[in-house]
This record gives sequence, C-alpha cells and structure tokens, in this order.
Amino acid sequence: FTSAIIGALVALSIIALVLSLVRVEDVTLPPTVKYGMVFDAGSSHTSLFVYQWDSDKENDTGVVSQTLSCDVQGQGISSYANNPPEAGNSLRECLDKALQVIPAEKQRDVPAYLGATAGMRLLREQNSSATEQVLAEVAKTMQEYPVAFKGARILTGEEEGAYGWITINYLLDSFTKYSPKAHTWLHPEAANIFGALDLGGASTQITFMPKGSVLSQNEASELTLYGYSYKIYTHSYLCYGQDEMLKRLAKELISFPSTRVQHPCYPEGYKETVSLSSLRASPCTGSDPRLALGDSAVTLAGRGNASACLAALRSLFSFSACGQSQPCAFDGVPQPPLRGQFIAFSAFYYNFKFLNLTEGQKCLSITPLHPKHSPPQLSSSYPTENPKRLPKYCANANYILTLLLDAYKFNETSWNNICFQMKAGDADVGWTLGYMLNLTNMVPAEAPARLKGHRS
Ligand code: AMP
Repeated sequence: FTSAIIGALVALSIIALVLSLVRVEDVTLPPTVKYGMVFDAGSSHTSLFVYQWDSDKENDTGVVSQTLSCDVQGQGISSYANNPPEAGNSLRECLDKALQVIPAEKQRDVPAYLGATAGMRLLREQNSSATEQVLAEVAKTMQEYPVAFKGARILTGEEEGAYGWITINYLLDSFTKYSPKAHTWLHPEAANIFGALDLGGASTQITFMPKGSVLSQNEASELTLYGYSYKIYTHSYLCYGQDEMLKRLAKELISFPSTRVQHPCYPEGYKETVSLSSLRASPCTGSDPRLALGDSAVTLAGRGNASACLAALRSLFSFSACGQSQPCAFDGVPQPPLRGQFIAFSAFYYNFKFLNLTEGQKCLSITPLHPKHSPPQLSSSYPTENPKRLPKYCANANYILTLLLDAYKFNETSWNNICFQMKAGDADVGWTLGYMLNLTNMVPAEAPARLKGHRS
C-alpha cells in the first residue's frame, strides 16, 4: 500500500514537472468583424441601421462604421395602432436586406434593438394597450430572424437627446484623444464637445455641455465616458416636432366654426384640407374643446405672408411661462446659456439643405488630433425630393428660425456655431449609434488602458 502511495506521488511530481516545462501562453484570437443593428422607429418613418467594427477595437472611439441604412416602407409604427401585426411585417424588407450584408455565421451574435421615439410616446398617451401591442408585434417579427434580439422599447426624450449627443461626439472623435507626442490619452477640451439639435416629426431635442451647472435636475445627465465625466443638459419637447407643429399651427389659425382659413406660412394659391378628427386624434392638439364641435374639414388657403407666419409660429411657444426664472428657454423649461458648436440634424438639416442654406458653413474645418483617423468627413446626403413636402418648406424653415433664435436663444454670433449636417464620415447622425454603443458597453467608463489598434 505504501509503495502504491509513493508511486502515485512520483507520478504526480513528474506531471507537475512536465507542466512547468511547458510554457502556457495566452492565445489571442485574430480580430474579427462584429455587427449590430438598431431600428429607429420615428414618428413619420422607421429606418434600420447596421453597424460594424473590429472586435479588437471595441473600446476605442470612432471605430464603428455604418454598413447599411434601410428605410422601412410606409409610415411610422405608431400608425399601425389599429393593425399591430402590420407594424411587425413592415420591418421584414429591411431585416432581409440586413441579413444579406451580415455573414451567415455571424448573424446569431448580432445584437438587434428597436427604439421608438415621440410618435409612440404620443400613442402611449392616447392608447397604451395599442402601444404595447405594436411593440409586441415588432418584437415578434425581429425574433423570427436569426439575430440576437435585445428588445423593442420606447426611449424617453432625454435618452433620445443624450444618445444623439453621444453619436455625434463619438463619430467626431471628441471624447478622448491620443497624443502621439505625450504617448498618452488626453482629456478632451470641454469647449470642443459638440452639442446636438434634433428635430423629428413629433419632438425636438437640445443637448449640450453647459459651462456652469445644468440648472435643473430634470434636464441633467451625468455620463462617465473614457474616464471623464460629462455633465450634460438635455431636454426633449414633445409636440414640437415639425409635423405636430404644423397641426398645432393649423388648429391655432382655425376660427371656429368657419371652414376656410388663411394660412400665412403656406404659399399663395396652395390649399390643404385638414379634418377636425385628425386634430382630435393627436394629444398635441386633441384637448382643444373647440374641436368637439363637429366632424367637418377645414380648408387652409396659403397666403405666403412671412411676418404673419413668424408671428403665428411664435404663438405656439409660451415665452411668458418662464416668468422671472432665468435663464429659461420657453414653456417654463430652464436652459443654461448655450456653449460650443452644435450639429443640427434630422429635419433641421433636411429643410436647410433643400433651401440651400447648408453651404459655406464654418464648421467644416474640424480637425481631430487622433492619429488613427483622417479628419472626419462631414459630408451630406440628400434624400430624393418629395413634391408633397414642397409647400411646407417655408413653414418649416420659419419654425426652425423661431425655435433656434427665439426659443433656444441662439443669436447672430452663436448661429455660426450651428452645423446643419446629417452625416459624419460614412455614418448617419442620430440617436441609434449612441444607443447601441451604450447597450453593448462600447463606450467604457474608464480611459483606454493600452494602445489597442494604434500601432501606426
Ligand atoms: P422622424 O425622424 O420620423 O421623427 O421625422 C423627422 C421629420 O423630418 C419628419 O417631420 C419628416 O416628415 C421630416 N422629413 C423627412 N425627410 C424630409 C425632407 N426631405 N424634407 C423635409 N422634411 C423631411
């Protein structure tokens, strides 16, 4: 028995000796390309974005690129309140396109999200069970595809603002910069962080890093990114997106019970009919008791009168609600003084691009320190013109002026700090990239520890 124990001990020592002689090395897998996808379910339409990045660079900045953007046919998902399964079906074409650009063996690992914004926030106010059904149907469709479904939900307005802000500063490389001279990562200059201005169909968001305090807890978010804390101000105004604004404007112009009204923001000769039931259907206009008077339609007859148009648009904002509490934007919402450059995207961009107001902007000369990138290309793309939009451009542009100048308080000087842009490099500017980066932990709280992927 004793010799058996001795034999076993000898065998174990031999194994230990052999193991100590073999150097076990870390095996580093070669970098692979990873993918992620996010549906932006906006009030007027839905888009799908597919992103890709190298697995060994996950925690660097500015490394994610956009592989695909796909516009879903038809209206936004909130328009399917009476037929929720169709909301799910509407996504299929873009999901199929996404699977064509993602290699089959990777599809199962692709995190897939759907985020809905103000259109669904409004529907939730009116009909929460229909809202849940629409979300359940879009989730069901996404789960039928061989991707890693991570959820379909409604973003808060503040999330929408903050994720747009993260997208912009990530794409423009303003969060953290590597200095090849100092061989270290530099803290960003707070003044070089961009603000975000987003104008959707149903809501608008303003997000920036103020100089002093954020003023009010409701509008404050603190984000720790790459070892640096950012205290940002963000506010989302529901019913101040451009489609809801046009409805509110029409309702203000109607003098009941007249069925014909002059519209100063529409061109002379243009006529549009609005049904009172459509105004009743939106929480942005529906609470007006005058709408209960009947089911008639009202004709809006264009007058093309710029000063009357601006006056009518101003009446949509309550400037008096700020009272003595300053600084304040409108409707009693505190807003610290504006700071730095802003990227104005979505409908801010579409309208100004159409009116040729996006040329000659000073903001194109942004040159980052980052060694791995060429300067970010702020390029522009312009969707094919839709003739139905033509009569609305004056109203929209005057609304944008009122919002930026009177409401947000840009002035002649700070106006030049606004860049009307829809793209940074090859990626669209919007909240989707920031959302995905956050949910996949690709914007770490700590500073990058070592120089991954920066050997140049
Ligand atoms: P959404 O992103 O769906 O919330 O919509 C943004 C807003 O931009 C909506 O009011 C759309 O109708 C509007 N929009 C989209 N394309 C254009 C365009 N080419 N010109 C003007 N407005 C546009």
